[in-house]
Amino acid sequence: MSETNAEVIVIGGGPAGSVLAAKLARASRRVTLFEKEQFPRFHIGESLLPCSVPLFEELGVRPELDRAGFLRKYAAEFVSADGTKRKRYAFADGMLPGSESAYEVERAEFDRVLLEHAARSGARVEQGVEVVGFRCDAADGVEVTVRDAAGNQRTERAEILVDASGQHAFAAKKLGLREMDPELKHFAVFSHFEGAVRERGVREGDISIVLTPLGWWWVIPLKGDRTSAGLVTSARALGGRKPDQAFFEQQIADTPYLKQRFEGATRVMPVRSVSDYSYVTRSLIGDRLLLVGDAGAFIDPVFSTGVHIAVRGAFEAAASVERALSDRRFVAARFRRYERRMRRFVADYRRFVKGFYRPEFAELLLHPSDVLDLRAAITSLLAGHGTGHFGIRLRLAVFYLLAWLNRRWMLTPRLPGRREAAAER
Ligand code: FAD
Repeated sequence: MSETNAEVIVIGGGPAGSVLAAKLARASRRVTLFEKEQFPRFHIGESLLPCSVPLFEELGVRPELDRAGFLRKYAAEFVSADGTKRKRYAFADGMLPGSESAYEVERAEFDRVLLEHAARSGARVEQGVEVVGFRCDAADGVEVTVRDAAGNQRTERAEILVDASGQHAFAAKKLGLREMDPELKHFAVFSHFEGAVRERGVREGDISIVLTPLGWWWVIPLKGDRTSAGLVTSARALGGRKPDQAFFEQQIADTPYLKQRFEGATRVMPVRSVSDYSYVTRSLIGDRLLLVGDAGAFIDPVFSTGVHIAVRGAFEAAASVERALSDRRFVAARFRRYERRMRRFVADYRRFVKGFYRPEFAELLLHPSDVLDLRAAITSLLAGHGTGHFGIRLRLAVFYLLAWLNRRWMLTPRLPGRREAAAER
């Protein structure tokens, strides 16, 4: 039976789970976190957003992140496949004040730093322990069944369960809450290289988002000489081809901008592919239950929003959990504020992501107008501010209108191949 008297049990030690556990533990709450893997472990999702940085500061983990020496990211740039058109969005030029840089991270190390910080903050962290079952009862509490690496099972009890199990979406799958987004059914194929061409100085850590007829590539410089590169594309664009090593290498060879950056570079990791389907869950909350980070929703990673949504969600969820524990009311309605705020935040970015997959929208991102501070507003969105600020919401509406007009009239130069590819889809 139970070995602890935790108030909160957290499933998963990725950014969502670690940040939430640290936040609650620092408020003297008794938290137990179960992580099925042993850290460090590989994870994709390497480019962070500036808006996470003040949250790391508040959590007290910023000095450890700085000590880890992650490369600083000051901008995101959009690049045409041939490299002739590039548009750089420097976070310092955003409409809203805030951090002007983020980190480019190898997740194995980044996630380990966050998880160790949770433990140092007072959370009980058990690695190599998988949650295999749970029961949440409004009156009775939470009961969770866990299994260790040796196959031993035991039961733990708490007041509240937080599912931060990432794309495993442990609770959402068990409760049948997950809804895939048919418009964003994508695959990613990616690897790491050493010796790729990169900028120097303040531009060294820029993420490059390269627009090709098949979809888009990320190029993320990491610390040392490592660079992560990956293609996101749809099953339809693949046209029956397998997203394997040969395909990956051929796409680099066929894309002039990538060819120039990776010529002479050495691949230092096997080529991997993952399904990259966006989804939401019908509810992010239940009696004594909250779903945080990818466990609740996932959006295509083109704007590098995943970790920020996880971290911001963890902060919002921690506030709701804290309130519930203080007044000892654990029904779903108690967590509605968390759900409302996160749903809104995710929905805004989902709309922006869907826009990106329309050629006229991406063309506008490559040729943004400075009129009405449109570019500054987009920069703030790319930094992770969301659309809560009226000025950003208003300018985003103008941007959507311009994209619509750009479809009919040629307001910007066309990107070769993308309109044809979109028409075939
Ligand atoms: P995760 O980081 O997935 O952590 C969940 C943890 O839960 C894992 O460690 C897992 O082992 C553990 N777990 C699962 N089930 C159980 C269980 N039953 N019991 C115990 N433990 C369990 N985001 C960005 O911000 N920037 C990017 O550049 C970016 N690029 C991406 C590229 C691709 C191709 C994809 C697919 C995603 C990308 N993302 C990116 C998204 C990012 O990876 C996720 O949004 C982020 O990792 C979510 O954090 P999380 O803590 O919710 O989940």
